[in-house]
Amino acid sequence: MNFQGLMKIEKPDFYIDVAFSRANKRAGQQRSKLKGKKLNRMKKSRIMELDKIATVRITLINQMDKILNSYPQTAHLDIFYLELVKSTLDYYMLKKSLGALNWVKKQITVLFKKYNEKIKKSQKLEYINKYRNEFYGRAVSVLKQVKKNLEYLEHARKVMRDYPSIKTGMPTIVIAGYPNVGKSTLLRKLTSAKPAVASYPFTTKKIMLGYLGKKIQFIDTPGLLDRPIGKRNQIERQAILALKHLAEKMIFMLDPSETCGYEIKDQIKLMNEMKKSLRVETIVVLNKIDLASPEQMSKVSKLKAIPISAEKGTGIKELKEKIS
Ligand code: GDP
Repeated sequence: MNFQGLMKIEKPDFYIDVAFSRANKRAGQQRSKLKGKKLNRMKKSRIMELDKIATVRITLINQMDKILNSYPQTAHLDIFYLELVKSTLDYYMLKKSLGALNWVKKQITVLFKKYNEKIKKSQKLEYINKYRNEFYGRAVSVLKQVKKNLEYLEHARKVMRDYPSIKTGMPTIVIAGYPNVGKSTLLRKLTSAKPAVASYPFTTKKIMLGYLGKKIQFIDTPGLLDRPIGKRNQIERQAILALKHLAEKMIFMLDPSETCGYEIKDQIKLMNEMKKSLRVETIVVLNKIDLASPEQMSKVSKLKAIPISAEKGTGIKELKEKIS
């Protein structure tokens, strides 16, 4: 899913200006078309003003549709993104604001029908102009009524622009473990291309995405799945929970050599905590076996785990078999 292409949302005046200037331009074209025709001034004026209000209507509707079509339908959002929306935005306000654009479309059409009739029926030039002006005034007021909603959508666009582009349909594995245990080294080894860096709209976190062919998506989340959850703020907790909806498996990486700077007992504690909160199938990996002493390895011998050296490439084949 990609949120980078969301339409920039302008202020009400912008849409009004575009609609009115289109209407004026059309009126200019109409005027030259009607020039040679044997119609009285009122009839000509009626044709032109009817055309103007129709142009205003269609322009505003098209503008609203353009915004609506560029936004994901909240009802169709993948649960991962829905979680992101709910934790980074006011979900109710977002829905309401998108609804307000539909309301604009409806109101403008109702007004158009009303004034279209009035102009058609009026027999005096001054009434034709009066009704046209009335329609314009009321169209402006409709747009002004959704000012707050447009502002909110623009705010939402700026937040959503930072959502990571994740392939939500692809089987996904998150890689977790304390810092420096070798997660990104493993990600590079498992996947062919350089991992893509995507921002995650929580604090300053970035996430790394890697792909094993078109089959598996890996996500490494520096700073997120690498510390006890108890020390998280609310937003980071939600970010972790959002990952739960995305990942069907977790690779939890332990570094028995402890060169990462964390004792193995603390690493195991973090693993149990992550297992509990993510509740996904967990593949335990013991990394840096090239560095770990037999004594260090004996401390983890009871774990059902795959021993590897991400750096040297040892055990990667076995791990790939396990995950695919
Ligand atoms: P991350 O913070 O968990 O992503 O850890 P990194 O992948 O950045 O690795 C931290 C350090 O450990 C780096 O200097 C790596 O080169 C090193 N490293 C990773 N895997 C291995 C391994 O299997 N053996 C050895 N000797 N070093 C490793």
